[in-house]
Amino acid sequence: MEKVLSEKSLDELQRSLVGTVVRPADDEYDKARRGFNALIDRRPAVIARCVGSADVAVAFDFARVHKLEVAVRGGGHNPAGHCVCDGGLVIDLSLMRTVDVNEDARIAHADGGATWLDFDSATQAFGLVTPGGVVVSTGVVGLSLGGGIGHLTAQYGLTCDHIIGAELVTPDGAVIHANADENADLLWGLRGGGGNFGVVIRAEFRLHPLEQVVGGHLVYRGTGVREALLRYRDALTRSPRDLSCQVALAMDESLVPILEIVPCYTGSDTDPEELRMLRSAPGLIEDTVRVHTFLEQQRVIDSSYGVNRHYWKGHFVRELPDELLDELLKRLPALGRPPGGIMIESLHGAPKDTDVPPGAVGFRHAAFNVSVMAVWQDPALDAEQINWARETAAAVEPWSFSGGGYVNYMQADEPVERVRATFGAETFDRLQKLKQRYDPHNILRRNQNIPPSL
Ligand SMILES: Cc1cc2nc3c(=O)[nH]c(=O)nc-3n(C[C@H](O)[C@H](O)[C@H](O)COP(=O)(O)OP(=O)(O)OC[C@H]3O[C@@H](n4cnc5c(N)ncnc54)[C@H](O)[C@@H]3O)c2cc1C
Repeated sequence: MEKVLSEKSLDELQRSLVGTVVRPADDEYDKARRGFNALIDRRPAVIARCVGSADVAVAFDFARVHKLEVAVRGGGHNPAGHCVCDGGLVIDLSLMRTVDVNEDARIAHADGGATWLDFDSATQAFGLVTPGGVVVSTGVVGLSLGGGIGHLTAQYGLTCDHIIGAELVTPDGAVIHANADENADLLWGLRGGGGNFGVVIRAEFRLHPLEQVVGGHLVYRGTGVREALLRYRDALTRSPRDLSCQVALAMDESLVPILEIVPCYTGSDTDPEELRMLRSAPGLIEDTVRVHTFLEQQRVIDSSYGVNRHYWKGHFVRELPDELLDELLKRLPALGRPPGGIMIESLHGAPKDTDVPPGAVGFRHAAFNVSVMAVWQDPALDAEQINWARETAAAVEPWSFSGGGYVNYMQADEPVERVRATFGAETFDRLQKLKQRYDPHNILRRNQNIPPSL
């Protein structure tokens, strides 16, 4: 719904903010309203580029007075386009990107709009790291709130498990702290429950010492792809603690299957068995795996922003049997074209190292995350591409871990039942109680929503 605000009210908002207001008439408006997914084309009534908690409280207040829907923008990468809304107000955190590191305590404080490039550059200056996302332009807080799977998941666990504190502004303008001593239940909810409870102004993360890794990528083509995929599954099913690994399956321009494996090894073995197994698989056409810095590893995967249309759908799975892999290979030729395709992330190792779950995230005991990623440019192909992603994901469902998907990758059309299944009924109920406490009117609903009540 198009909503036009008077210049007078926008002037008032600007006067109340330390940050800046971007109006529909401004030159930068079009860039500021775009997100990662070009399928999402929304026109907010105003974008408030906030600086600090007082600005965020002002923005919430303005939205309430003018009856505007609210969206929150961190790194702008959510494939559902949750960072922008039609006719509403965007709380844009892109001016808030400072990351401070306490080397001795091994803790980093990241502002709500910091990206992984901001974070990794700051922490690697001290030889420290938090397991984060694999594309450096993604938002640190946005990714962490949904879980966080990346190059160091097997070694250190999920990103959200590393959040040890946060400062939030809730929709009523209150500033709340969450840590082990204060609002510990909210801290639990932030570890997986997404942006449902407030705008995170700053978050505190635990760090580990790490500078170098063995990483890069291995690319296979043609008939060897199946064997390489089976070896990937077998290598990771042994749960090597010092090897995280994800893969992307697609068809190349000649419609021949290709498999990209992206390992990240941090152990002391100069020739680790799992990497040997992968490197000797048939069909290997490219091998860039070598010792390099963690910052270089974070550059192995890149993704263009705002250019392509995306529709992602997937399932966490209990296992990756041959039958499922064959099903994926069978469905791939239809529309699995780079940069889209089918991505598989392993969840072995550290995510499972916990008796009492430290957070709400519901997928840590799954074996893999299988995501079908339709990526295209021509709007005329929307229906076809979306159907391919849906149908291929449906074929994965019989192996689903919980019936839920990864909130960080879900589109906006997922029903609340699927979000609930992602967490499990008990955890979802607990999250709803938190929602009732911190956002009883569901102002923060442009997300994988946890409504205060069903
Ligand atoms: C190219 C690409 C690569 C990715 N790689 C990974 C990966 O390696 N691992 C992984 O786990 N996920 C990955 N993701 C998924 C990503 O983590 C989620 O989409 C996440 O929501 C993106 O956060 P953002 O801040 O960049 O996005 P935005 O679209 O800006 O924000 C998404 C939502 O997160 C919430 N949010 C963001 N910041 C805040 C804040 N400060 N306070 C409160 N709520 C906030 C809001 O609800 C917001 O609407 C990737 C996505 C893309 C597009």
